[in-house]
Amino acid sequence: MIYKADLHIHSKKSFDGRMSVSEIIEKAKSKGLNAIAITDHDGYFDGEAEGIEIIRGCEFSTEYGHLLGLFMTDPIVEKDFHKIVSGVHEQGGIVVLAHPYQRRNMEEKVESIAHLIDGVEVFNSRAAKKNKEANRQAKAFADRHGLLYFAGSDSHLPGEIGNVILTCEGDDIRSALTGGFISIEGKHSDPVNTARSQFTRFKNAGWTPKTFIKWCLFALKCLFSKKEKENVVISKDR
Ligand SMILES: [Zn+2]
Ligand SMILES: [Zn+2]
Repeated sequence: MIYKADLHIHSKKSFDGRMSVSEIIEKAKSKGLNAIAITDHDGYFDGEAEGIEIIRGCEFSTEYGHLLGLFMTDPIVEKDFHKIVSGVHEQGGIVVLAHPYQRRNMEEKVESIAHLIDGVEVFNSRAAKKNKEANRQAKAFADRHGLLYFAGSDSHLPGEIGNVILTCEGDDIRSALTGGFISIEGKHSDPVNTARSQFTRFKNAGWTPKTFIKWCLFALKCLFSKKEKENVVISKDR
């Protein structure tokens, strides 16, 4: 079976998401995807849909940056990186470092935990907003440590779904993601999308004058920062 997957999508269960799961599924199918991972922040989607494989996942915020747990069977309520990693592994899940170089302060830190994780997002559509080299650095990190390639759009809005299409082949989605030939086509998300999901985040938390000014400044910055035009193609035979 050939899978076309986007492995990093947020529903409105995330504090900064606004899509319903059915909206995500519909959009993903319209983009030709037959596999998605719904990776809500500290949340957990447990459901199925016809015609599309839904990988149960979660995005954790840890002291080593954002971490995706994929193929999970039970929710994990932990904040500590090491406890999350062992929790996901105990469930038979896969641990993937999400956009490790999105911010520049993680470079040295992530080297020390490379041996504990299974894979890295070598392309994340939102990662290059602050650090233009973020995705290239992530791929070099994966190659340096022999880690599996993963990729996702980090969609918070319908227009972002399918900004990454990861193609792989196998008897099931899990074996397709962990062995054989893989190819990734990635597009960068418009920075305005990040401003829109930050708006949702502040709105959900309840606006204060301080957060409103903070958001306005952030939105202006996003509006004037140029979208990366380059489309990226990465492939590997494992
Ligand atoms: Zn993240
Ligand atoms: Zn995310």
